Amino acid sequence: MTERDVLIIGGGPAGLSAALVLSRARRSVAVVDTGEPRNATAEHMHGFFTRDGMPPGALLETGRTEVRGYGGEIIDGRAERAAPADGGGFVVTLADGTRLTGRRLLVTTGVTDVLPDVPGLQERWGREVQMCPYCHGWEVRDERIVVLASSPQSLHQVTLLTQWSPDVTLLTSKAPEGEDAARLDARGVRVVESEARRVIVENDRLRASSWRTARSSAATPCSSRPRSPRRTARWPTSAARPARTAS
Ligand SMILES: Cc1cc2nc3c(=O)[nH]c(=O)nc-3n(C[C@H](O)[C@H](O)[C@H](O)COP(=O)(O)OP(=O)(O)OC[C@H]3O[C@@H](n4cnc5c(N)ncnc54)[C@H](O)[C@@H]3O)c2cc1C
Repeated sequence: MTERDVLIIGGGPAGLSAALVLSRARRSVAVVDTGEPRNATAEHMHGFFTRDGMPPGALLETGRTEVRGYGGEIIDGRAERAAPADGGGFVVTLADGTRLTGRRLLVTTGVTDVLPDVPGLQERWGREVQMCPYCHGWEVRDERIVVLASSPQSLHQVTLLTQWSPDVTLLTSKAPEGEDAARLDARGVRVVESEARRVIVENDRLRASSWRTARSSAATPCSSRPRSPRRTARWPTSAARPARTAS
């Protein structure tokens, strides 16, 4: 079995950046990647200097080509297990049973966004349902934006979004009080104390979101709906955690 200097699990921007620098430093590198980056559903990426508007897949393809140009290997596959090897280094086992060994192991598997269980939300993720104003706020400037409150950070996000649109609604199970309420009021944010029910899609476009109040149901048109999803690490915590980089 060929031992590489560095095995990298995850070939997104983080893994490919590391692979590029390491392969240019004459380290033998293999990147294992399942090809499911976090922003896979987004048609375009924004705010990345010199690459604004580029499809995310094109960025990664360019990165793969650059890494290969310095002798780095890209292996399409899923790493299922990583463990310390006898005598030092690490062994990574792929789903198809392939075993790779490396002196060092870098885990760059990213995070998975866990959306609330609201019908229709997952299907629009990365399209009209977004999470980062700096990535896609410009694309929905001046449109109606509804923010699903999912954590204390949602207050920060809803405040930020007033930079992009004067029509921002916070949908929350508990309306903010005191200073928080005053801050939202000063920025013209509408607060709806209610539970999200579903999103309404027409002609492949998100047209409205609906919610349930104590007394009635309501629906509002909204062409975009940024929110802060919960994120979980992609590498199981039960696996070995050999996150040291090459020296
Ligand atoms: C909808 C959306 C839109 C976004 N838009 C923008 C934007 O416009 N501009 C911007 O700067 N940022 C944007 N982001 C953020 C951007 O996607 C992340 O910052 C970036 O993807 C992080 O890179 P990463 O390499 O850490 O993780 P990822 O890109 O998620 O890459 C991780 C890689 O690891 C692989 N992997 C995971 N587990 C395994 C395994 N067991 N074995 C092998 N491979 C594995 C995955 O398939 C994936 O290819 C957006 C995010 C989302 C969710």
